[in-house]
Amino acid sequence: MGVKAITCHLNERRIFTRDGGRWGLAQIHAILTRTTYVGEHRFNTRSHKDRERKPASEVAIMACPPLIDRETFDAVQARLKSRHPMMTPARVTSGPTLLTGICFCAKCGGAMTLRTGKGSSGGTYRYYTCSTQARQGKTGCEGRSIPMERLDQLVASHLEERLLQPERLETILASVLDRRQERAERRREHLAELHKRITETDQRLNRLFDAIESGVADLEAPGLKERIAGLKAIREQARADAERAQAAIDHAGNQAISPAMVETFARAARQRIRLEGGGYRRDHLRALAQRVEVADKEVRIMGSKSELLRTLVAASNGKSGVIGVQSSVLKWRARKDSNL
Ligand SMILES: [Zn+2]
Repeated sequence: MGVKAITCHLNERRIFTRDGGRWGLAQIHAILTRTTYVGEHRFNTRSHKDRERKPASEVAIMACPPLIDRETFDAVQARLKSRHPMMTPARVTSGPTLLTGICFCAKCGGAMTLRTGKGSSGGTYRYYTCSTQARQGKTGCEGRSIPMERLDQLVASHLEERLLQPERLETILASVLDRRQERAERRREHLAELHKRITETDQRLNRLFDAIESGVADLEAPGLKERIAGLKAIREQARADAERAQAAIDHAGNQAISPAMVETFARAARQRIRLEGGGYRRDHLRALAQRVEVADKEVRIMGSKSELLRTLVAASNGKSGVIGVQSSVLKWRARKDSNL
């Protein structure tokens, strides 16, 4: 009997809810999955603000007298899962977790995917594990698993304590800022050349027109019309190029970075990385780090300098500060030694 059949069964037999109403699918489902009946009452499962489900790490569990045994409860959960039309492959939890998609096994390069397991006390725990190993066993890859909370915490605190310090940010961004400086100078030189070309072409055209007006040159002379058209084309091209160069200079000017901006960004970013009441802001973290490699003795956190710079500029201009990630360019590199 499924959730719907149970609901109909009760309603048809006039077995009503505590306050005399009819049963609904959601209520039946909630009862079937409520762990309170096996002696684990859960608090703090959803955010008060948006009703989003909170990460398992934040849920508080209080022991209470069980009404049904664990075997029955587990059997019901398994049955529910097997009947679910959108069932995911066994034991692999999909969905947006902090590091899935950017987390890789250092041994084989395979993605680290989130899996869940049952602890000895009956509670579930979650960990990132090498997907090659998960599929093929130790012969596929000897890479490791790491508890989700531990890795999330490690990456987030590294970003907070190391990357998001003004001095460190300035060091990382120094070469990018130098390159921008050089580019800006080249653009200004280029713009000056274009203006010079426009002026010179103008003068040549004027001299030609003067000659024609004073009768020195004949407009019908062979090649003269073509020469005028050629000079006009050069002038138009130079004007268009100058306009573009000017726009590029203006745009870059809006993106100038000052030490004060770096400092403000570092402070704001450190505060924003954590969610109120625990957990981390996924999109925010991913704008700072685009690849996490898990080895036996260390975790390597990598990100792109240009991405970091874009995030900083966007944040300073009052935009969200989170832009699509560009994981192909991995420039800044950090090592975090730890005993995982
Ligand atoms: Zn591996």
